[in-house]
Amino acid sequence: MGTFKSVYPYTQETIAEYAAHTNEEIERKLAAGHAAHRHLAQLPLQQRADGMLRAAALLRQNATEHATIITREMGKTLKEAKAEVLKCAASAEYYARNIAGMLQPKPLQSDAVKSYVSYEPKGIILAIMPWNYPYWQVFRFAIPNLLAGNAGLLKHASNVSGCALAIEKLFLEAGFPEGAFQAVLVSSQNIEPIIADMRVQGVTLTGSTPAGMSVAQLAGKYIKKTVLELGGSDPFIVLKDADLDQAAAIAVKGRMQNAGQSCIAAKRWIVESPVAAEFTSKVTAILQHMQQGDPFNNDTGMGPMARPDLAEELDRQLRQTQQQGATLLLGGQHEGCNFAPTLVSGVQPGMTAFEEETFGPLATIITAQDEQQAIQLANQTPFGLGAALWTRDTEKAARLATRIESGNVFINDLVHSDARLPFGGVKQSGYGRELSTEGAHEFLNIKTVYIK
Ligand code: NAP
Repeated sequence: MGTFKSVYPYTQETIAEYAAHTNEEIERKLAAGHAAHRHLAQLPLQQRADGMLRAAALLRQNATEHATIITREMGKTLKEAKAEVLKCAASAEYYARNIAGMLQPKPLQSDAVKSYVSYEPKGIILAIMPWNYPYWQVFRFAIPNLLAGNAGLLKHASNVSGCALAIEKLFLEAGFPEGAFQAVLVSSQNIEPIIADMRVQGVTLTGSTPAGMSVAQLAGKYIKKTVLELGGSDPFIVLKDADLDQAAAIAVKGRMQNAGQSCIAAKRWIVESPVAAEFTSKVTAILQHMQQGDPFNNDTGMGPMARPDLAEELDRQLRQTQQQGATLLLGGQHEGCNFAPTLVSGVQPGMTAFEEETFGPLATIITAQDEQQAIQLANQTPFGLGAALWTRDTEKAARLATRIESGNVFINDLVHSDARLPFGGVKQSGYGRELSTEGAHEFLNIKTVYIK
């Protein structure tokens, strides 16, 4: 069955090993999850909402402990990890206070005396999740689903089992019944029997596009609804009338947060040529002051990457892009998981850093002749997750936003997720939505009731 190892990325020290669950243990979890779903579904909604508020309070009380588990397992700075934990708490509170409206039956006119749609839970939802935001990715799925009466079964990335087990414990402590939210320690290769099980009524995957393809095939085989939140190569478009100081600061934040390991990181900076030189000098100045190092140190701006193989992969992408003609302006060196903040300019279609998702602290500058070419370059990718557009002309921005092929467009701000706004992608970045009302409805039975 194997084991899962947790390694502290900054020093490469092994911090824990976890045995994979046996088939008998998995069967017990499926049975407990099914029973918990039945129980949860019968409770008054307010009782589930109270449980979610207790979960939020526990996250707030123990934010440093939870953040420490995150930092030890995947290396982001403790500051970033705490912010992640608090975002989970705030989102739990938001949903607990608003879920009643989201689940309220919707009356519809028809030839019946009365007809309406009711939103009902379906069973266990399997969540296959990545290590990059090991709490947030899980909570943004778990919060609306537990509130609606589904049970959650989490197969977390194999390097963050400690996070998975801590979240399981937290929901129990918050008073959710045993089985309502469980972690299952199982390898990707052994996921098929869980997807096939009739008690599992949906699968949500956040991860790479290849993982999405594989899981969607299995889910299709067993007719299970899926939501896929996959990779991205978001454009960050800077037009010549943008506020360059703000754009430069947010470009760096958008690319370098979480050591560049974010699906919605600003991976391709597309800058209109009249301001390309000025923008380049502004971002260079900010990046030069960025400290990469010990994630527990309060002064550290960026922690290590999560695994050495990820740093090696980013290094390959950087070297290839340089060989293809791009210019290295800053950084480029790495040791183990510690990768320096890196900037390359002269990036063009056909180069590796343009064509592939780069999942680390590598910023790229792509010059566009005008705004038309900027939009064309933005769309010239198989991905379609997020996009940022910087201009002082917000009417023009709203017009251009309709031409960008992505699940969201942020004008003059950082692309980010927010419990109040739907989140998801198009093209190879996946389908379905998380968060807001749209996210809360994804794994519900949208049942039509017709009364003659
Ligand atoms: P990953 O390698 O695809 O892994 C994600 C999860 O999928 C892990 O739990 C992994 O388990 C599992 N998995 C991988 N292959 C699988 C398969 N064939 N069958 C079943 N499960 C499988 O991705 P990652 O490296 O952890 O995360 C980085 C990727 O996630 C990036 O592409 C990033 O853009 C994307 N992402 C997207 C979003 C979004 O909202 N769209 C958010 C965050 C991250 P193991 O660890 O056991 O392999």
